[in-house]
Amino acid sequence: MDKATPTSDLFQANRERAAPLLKQLRADGIGHMIDGKTVPSISGESFETKSPIDNTVLASVARGNAEDIDRAATAAALAFKSWRDIGAAMRRKVLHRVADAIEDRADDIAVLECIDTGQAHRFMAKAAIRAAENFRFFADKCAEARAGLNMPSEEHWNVSTRVPIGPVGVITPWNTPFMLSTWKIAPALAAGCTVVHKPAEWSPVTADMLAKLVKEAGIPDGVLNTVHGFGEEAGKALTEHPAIKAIGFVGESATGSAIMAQGAPTLKRVHFELGGKNPVIVFDDADLDRALDAVVFMIYSLNGERCTPSSRLLIQDSIAEKFISKLTARVQALKVGHPLDPATEIGPLIHERHLDKVCRYFDVARNEGAAIAVGGRTHAGPGGGHYIEPTLVTGANARMRVAQEEVFGPFLTVIPFRDENDAIAIANDVNYGLTGYVWTADMGRALRVADALEAGMIWLNSENVRHLPTPFGGMKASGIGRDGGDYSFDFYMETKHVSLARGTHRIQRLGI
Ligand code: NAD
Repeated sequence: MDKATPTSDLFQANRERAAPLLKQLRADGIGHMIDGKTVPSISGESFETKSPIDNTVLASVARGNAEDIDRAATAAALAFKSWRDIGAAMRRKVLHRVADAIEDRADDIAVLECIDTGQAHRFMAKAAIRAAENFRFFADKCAEARAGLNMPSEEHWNVSTRVPIGPVGVITPWNTPFMLSTWKIAPALAAGCTVVHKPAEWSPVTADMLAKLVKEAGIPDGVLNTVHGFGEEAGKALTEHPAIKAIGFVGESATGSAIMAQGAPTLKRVHFELGGKNPVIVFDDADLDRALDAVVFMIYSLNGERCTPSSRLLIQDSIAEKFISKLTARVQALKVGHPLDPATEIGPLIHERHLDKVCRYFDVARNEGAAIAVGGRTHAGPGGGHYIEPTLVTGANARMRVAQEEVFGPFLTVIPFRDENDAIAIANDVNYGLTGYVWTADMGRALRVADALEAGMIWLNSENVRHLPTPFGGMKASGIGRDGGDYSFDFYMETKHVSLARGTHRIQRLGI
């Protein structure tokens, strides 16, 4: 936040920025981007996207089905050969142009994302900048995408190289949708793949902007195609299309299972980033002030609608009372409000169906005998939208549903533990395995716990701080495969072995 400008001025400035963009959006509606053209659905069908702030209709959105997906997949297949063969230097250049275009519109993207998803501006203000960084990072990796190894044997040189797998499908969820979709699309394009993107039906607005910015930046027609619509229609058709060689999917674990089955007949390669019920373990020797900041940030930022939140606080029983008392005060002080207000820390949840889901967990907690220390109610926020009070559940045990199931909201469950072994056992006693956070001054213990946790990503004495070259992904029901750095290329490319004979080895002679 700009310290020199009063919050109310920034709120007003955000609203003024949003007004003409919304007017334009309502007038134009949202179509698919197929082969470089904005088109309606072949069926002529559409659906409405509404703002979670006040349920006003933001736009009429084309409702894609199998026919539209076929059109997009065909365009992606046609564009593939030329995009694959374009030089890495040229690919790098145009991907940097996409990053430039995103940066130019970063403030517009931020306000539209707030209005379409309910996320607070303080978190969305930098989301487009992070999206641009994703494009720049992978643009600079274009030249090394084909890189491989030399594994010489006595009579041969054996080299590996990589080639893009072909047209791929990218299916994304509604949480921080703009940033998150670039995390999949940028490496795919850098690898030389063409893409059909199916964004979430609850957050189509900035996906449409991305498709247009990519076109304006000079990426050839058909290289990125965007088809809007519902998961069971457009999404399913994409996973079943024979021209699509792989599916990069981010969403719920149950949807991942469905996609695996849908893609089986065409032998789709899949990469899944799925749900989580991530533990943050706080030992009694930790820097408790920093731990408290991180605990509050990791579950109550982004409305708790993030895959990597620390949604289970495992607190050593010797410090539980004191820590929970400080935590309670912080949760009570969180500011729920309009997403465009820079003072807001928690905005409305994305959709009334999601609001209902999160609210059901208030009753689940009560019925299981846990205590709701803070929150547990809807909140009358500006616009009358899908607001809830940030919620803190105490007195829980590890087997309760509030300790096992992903709530995907500003909802934290506290579970006390005795010692290191107890903490590890509780932390691993869930189906998920995305992230784990450990707070302790004992580095030996930190490393032992990091080794023992069944999770793809562990942060020691830190909240989640993303570093683009590192592997991102989960174990167990939290995912299959890793993103980030070179790991992304392993998914979007085929590894090929080429063997060169030195001309000296003996070839068996048959038929003489
Ligand atoms: P979701 O699974 O309901 O939907 C995600 C996408 O899949 C949407 O575009 C949807 O239309 C599509 N889809 C739904 N059914 C489909 C089908 N049968 N075939 C093909 N596509 C289908 O998830 P959501 O509610 O939009 O997102 C929230 C979930 O995403 C949470 O579980 C969260 O943890 C997870 N998530 C995980 C990560 C990660 O990196 N692990 C990141 C963000 C979100």
